[in-house]
Amino acid sequence: MTKRILTRRRFIASVSAGSVAAIAGSVPVLGKTGNDAGRLAILGGIPAIPPKKWPDWPYVDQKMIDAMIRTTKSGIWSRIQSETGSVPTFEKEFAALMGAKRCVTTGSGTQALSCCVEAMGIGAGDEVITSPYTDMGTISSILTSRALPVMADLDPASFQIDPADVERKITPATKAIMPVDMGGQPCNMARINAIAKKHKLRVIEDSCQGHLGEYQGKKLGTVGELGCFSFQTSKTIACGEGGAVIGNDEALMDRVFSVMMNGSHRIIGTKYRMTEFEAALLLSQLEGAKERFAIRNRNAAYLTSKLRKFPGLVPQKLYPGTTSGSYYLYMMAYKKEYFNNADRSKFLKALAAEGIELSPYIAKGLHREPWTEFILKQPVYTKMFPPERLKRFRDQLHLPVCDRVCDEMAMIWASGPLLGTLADMDDIVNAIMKVYENRDKLNSI
Ligand SMILES: *Cc1c(COP(=O)(O)O)cnc(C)c1O
Repeated sequence: MTKRILTRRRFIASVSAGSVAAIAGSVPVLGKTGNDAGRLAILGGIPAIPPKKWPDWPYVDQKMIDAMIRTTKSGIWSRIQSETGSVPTFEKEFAALMGAKRCVTTGSGTQALSCCVEAMGIGAGDEVITSPYTDMGTISSILTSRALPVMADLDPASFQIDPADVERKITPATKAIMPVDMGGQPCNMARINAIAKKHKLRVIEDSCQGHLGEYQGKKLGTVGELGCFSFQTSKTIACGEGGAVIGNDEALMDRVFSVMMNGSHRIIGTKYRMTEFEAALLLSQLEGAKERFAIRNRNAAYLTSKLRKFPGLVPQKLYPGTTSGSYYLYMMAYKKEYFNNADRSKFLKALAAEGIELSPYIAKGLHREPWTEFILKQPVYTKMFPPERLKRFRDQLHLPVCDRVCDEMAMIWASGPLLGTLADMDDIVNAIMKVYENRDKLNSI
């Protein structure tokens, strides 16, 4: 069987996905008997690929373990115990790596975003425009300052916030745009920055998925005014829970620092400090993170080249100026019209049985979650916004492109899997093509 799988792998690897589709009837036979000819595993056939062990995530090595032991023994566990401890050292190194003047670490990406909103003096009565297709942390960082998160619809091909809709949603109360580098790939920052400049708005770049990604020669997180990162376990640089703000405006970064330190007697803030353990874990993985980032980019480019002519599963569109992505997620849109109109759930089930698990990611956009109705009843919102504004807020929760993206998404949690080999990437394509070849059976599963 191994020999047959290899034969098939070479076969697929040697032709484009489009031509596999064109000659689907003549694909080499998989399986034990002629009757099993490439039969879907979910219908009793043999899986397209052998059981796979993807590279583990989070990544752990001896250097990281040593750093934990060293920190424990040192008794320096909080950043306030030492000005040369792991937290301040990591802040210096991360800023240098990102090409930013300053870095302030926090306890999470959400806290990093929150610090920016507070440091910019954005609060009750103000509006911030952001994406509905993101982690709830993006929205909650606006809500905790009692500002109004206004959601713009997406671009259908990049799954990123649509600048044209951002511009339509600007009101006199809009203070900032919080664009998200979704999947770890740059959103259309050129347009977002131009719109911000025109309307005199602040830009908080949510790069919580975008570690080390590059856009127009700049690291993600330095393209807007302030950039935020998350080091939560699943992210491509990780310490369990952690976050960081980076920026070049010294006075603004001083305010971010104060917010993180209980407000430092001069501004409203709470305690958002990163621990020495978290910073030590991050410091000990920075070097390796660069290598892993390069491997993910190589594999993503390879996967995208294999799927280039295949209309059934369309990789995330990248904007001009994207030098590299972070590939926290490798995102694709499932086009059911090319799969005999089978629901995405059937495709994902059939593909999982072949040995490849893709995720639908978030089930619905954040504009469809109950927090919207909750805030509309809160006195702080009803007092700070006229009823017409809140009615329009509710009316604007109609975001059809985001709904479609949610329905079509089929993506890889890429932190670990995209560290695999090119042969692993071929396996992903092979499994997809086998399901495609059997698309006439999908509706019977
Ligand atoms: C992970 C994430 C956050 C929140 O970060 P936490 O560290 O989990 O608080 C915010 N925005 C995006 C886009 C994220 O992926």
